[in-house]
Amino acid sequence: MAARWHRGVTAQPSSYAESSGDLGPGFLTAPAYLTDSQIIREGGQVRDPVDIHPLLKGYEGRPAAAAARAGDPVNAPMIRHWCEVMGDTNPAYTGPDAIAPPTMLQAWIMPGPGGPVHRSPAYRELVGLLSTAGYTAVVATDCEQEYPRPLRPGDAITYDTVIETVSPRKTTRLGAGYFITTRTDLRVDGECVGSHRFRVFRYAPAGVAVPSAASRRDAAPAESARPLPVVNRDNAAFWEGVAARKLLLQRCDVCAAPRFPWLPGCGECGSPEWTAVEAGGAGTVFSYVVVHHPALPAFDPPYAVGLIQLAEGVRMISNIVGVPHDRVRIGMPVDLEFVQVGGGAGVDGEQLLPVFRARAERSAR
Ligand SMILES: [Zn+2]
Repeated sequence: MAARWHRGVTAQPSSYAESSGDLGPGFLTAPAYLTDSQIIREGGQVRDPVDIHPLLKGYEGRPAAAAARAGDPVNAPMIRHWCEVMGDTNPAYTGPDAIAPPTMLQAWIMPGPGGPVHRSPAYRELVGLLSTAGYTAVVATDCEQEYPRPLRPGDAITYDTVIETVSPRKTTRLGAGYFITTRTDLRVDGECVGSHRFRVFRYAPAGVAVPSAASRRDAAPAESARPLPVVNRDNAAFWEGVAARKLLLQRCDVCAAPRFPWLPGCGECGSPEWTAVEAGGAGTVFSYVVVHHPALPAFDPPYAVGLIQLAEGVRMISNIVGVPHDRVRIGMPVDLEFVQVGGGAGVDGEQLLPVFRARAERSAR
């Protein structure tokens, strides 16, 4: 028995999450793996990290996890929850002779929100190497599983993961990077009960600058600049609009429903056809919070974060400026403006962001 899923099922381009989850504490203060001459292209702006495939190739065959143990034995409650969520009513998964749904394989060994707990030093090193060179983003692309025998409640699973292959550098619309394939073999009492081959694409997001080694050193360990937006194919046109000081919404070509934030399809009718329309900039505060904690280095609490009802009928989250945080009120009229903020740590250039200024404050000046 074998199963596959393909690109898009759990795709999560998440460079920020990844850089906190995979690298481990102290990564930024470790000696840089690469010098600027290795990662910076000739001619100023750093846009396209060099090919480090020869370095990455050395990780093939090394362990990503060794003799790790599943958090719980195979058990009926997890099977029941899985079947409920999946809507799978197959009778093989209930009763005294129940087996676990084969496609649950990864559920038995998946770490919690605390992150991967069984990653080996070799795997962390590989990810650190990629990140240092500018390949900071990750997207899961596909998965293959094999099920030599069914799992039953009581089975205690151990597993090993190996870094199977690192592809040559590939250029995609997301950016250039490497497909990293790992294979996990699951065992019960030494017997192989399943294997799980997982492929991710680790890439340098197209159009995002790579910090120089010097600025990485300066930035360590705290990153004090404001996090930059993650630009992808679905929202690229929005950020292009922002760069031109325009707040663009999507309007469905079929049912004319406006939408925000940017999504590939219409939430009303499902149509993938849309046209960008510029918002007039007028809005009201629909709701808001005042952030006191946590104090992030790039922000200066307390500050107000508003849910702004735009005149066009959609809402967006943004900062409310021009009024003390304790004078923000629901229903307060606000107007769009753009502010320039510093880039991410060690990143050249700046970023425009749409914010909303309290209208009352402006007229009072
Ligand atoms: Zn529609």
